[in-house]
Amino acid sequence: MVDIQATKLQCLSLLKERFNEQEYHTWFKGLDVKQNSKSIQVIVDNRLVQDYIKNNYWSTITQILQELAPNHTIELVVEKKLETNPTTEEVSSHHHSKNKSQDKSSVVNNLQQATKLNPSYNFETLVQGNSNQLAYAIGLHITQKPGHKNHNPLFIYGGVGLGKTHLMQAIGNQIYLNNSNSKIRYLHANDYIQDVVKASMRQGFDELKRYYNNLDLLLMDDIQFIAGDKTKTQEEFFYTFNNLLERGKQIIMTCDTYHKNINNLNERLVSRFSSGLSVEIQPPELEMRVAIIKRKAEQNQINLDDEVAFFIAQNIKSNVRELEGALNKVIYQAKFSGRPINIAIAKEALHDVLALDNRAISMDDIQKVVCDFYKIKLSDLLSSKRNQEFARPRQIAMALTKELTQHSLPSIGAYFGGRNHSTVIHAQKTIDNLRKFDQELNRKYNLLIQMLNK
Ligand code: ADP
Ligand code: MG
Repeated sequence: MVDIQATKLQCLSLLKERFNEQEYHTWFKGLDVKQNSKSIQVIVDNRLVQDYIKNNYWSTITQILQELAPNHTIELVVEKKLETNPTTEEVSSHHHSKNKSQDKSSVVNNLQQATKLNPSYNFETLVQGNSNQLAYAIGLHITQKPGHKNHNPLFIYGGVGLGKTHLMQAIGNQIYLNNSNSKIRYLHANDYIQDVVKASMRQGFDELKRYYNNLDLLLMDDIQFIAGDKTKTQEEFFYTFNNLLERGKQIIMTCDTYHKNINNLNERLVSRFSSGLSVEIQPPELEMRVAIIKRKAEQNQINLDDEVAFFIAQNIKSNVRELEGALNKVIYQAKFSGRPINIAIAKEALHDVLALDNRAISMDDIQKVVCDFYKIKLSDLLSSKRNQEFARPRQIAMALTKELTQHSLPSIGAYFGGRNHSTVIHAQKTIDNLRKFDQELNRKYNLLIQMLNK
């Protein structure tokens, strides 16, 4: 026998890591499990949900459960909580019969919720810090005047797991709170591509246009995916985009890179994207990482010592999603071993991450990443050439090496073309100072750290 509730929690946490927030909320969060000697039953409350899970997620769920509860059989069963069990047809004809809609499970309701927003992504749950201050402020401002030409479209960009989707949805949720009549739609660029593909199969472009043109607020996540798509998507999007902008409807997009750097994106779209406002979210610095961990612990009603929050924040540097994952691991480690959360537990829970971390970053890695980033040759990085185009990346690489590895100053100097340890100190000071005044350089430095921590 396994502790079924603990198994359920652990399974949910793993699903949360594998699938996006939207999917997690729609399909997994409300799942129930039961145990019957040697079998585990995953319970859903209608056929529609059962079919969907079976076709899309069942292999993952069984795989996870088999690891957590070896030697158990695993079944997916429908257990009626409701009088009626809506079939697909009933659900899709939902708007014809108001009464029936009250019978439907929250999962189905959730599905049909037209905005597709996740209510837990709001401004209250979004921790503020240096790395997202500006984006946060702009986001909040937009909720006051959605559609104003000064910030339309809004383009939010930055690396993975830094809170772009969270911020975008926070804006949507707030605009909805301010006016529940606003027609809002959040979607991932891939869903848009699918809409366009479906429309092209059914000759349904008019319908598609009508739907999107009717919105007051369009939130399109991970727009870089549209760039890679060769079908009619970009053309359709351009049309919708212009139409909404002309009528003062707000558009918000997120992207993993600055719009001018998106490969294969139609020029007309690039120039359209530039017409509004762009804002970047950067990787959180230590202080903010600590604040985020403490907030997440609070939300889970977990008592977390500053010391432990600090330990996690110091060791997980790449992004917020991984920070959350690390915190969850620590929480489970404590739960399953029946001990209170402390540094020892955190070390155990994160031992693979910590070991990876130590292995991951070598001086070679840093030299290679910096050379790639600045598009210079390794021989130039290590040479005695003093032109800025080589000297600056060299200083950055040395400062990164001091920050990210345990090597001593003399050995760093030696590895950078046989330099003296005082050259390394000088490089580190120069970069520290520059980062305070030169935003662009600071941004690049943070980006390099994120790349190296991958
Ligand atoms: P992105 O879209 O940039 O890849 P997400 O918005 O999906 O990142 O964020 C990843 C996870 O980290 C989400 O669970 C989100 O709630 C959380 N997160 C990111 N930034 C913050 C923040 N500043 N405060 C609280 N949670 C955050
Ligand atoms: Mg995202």
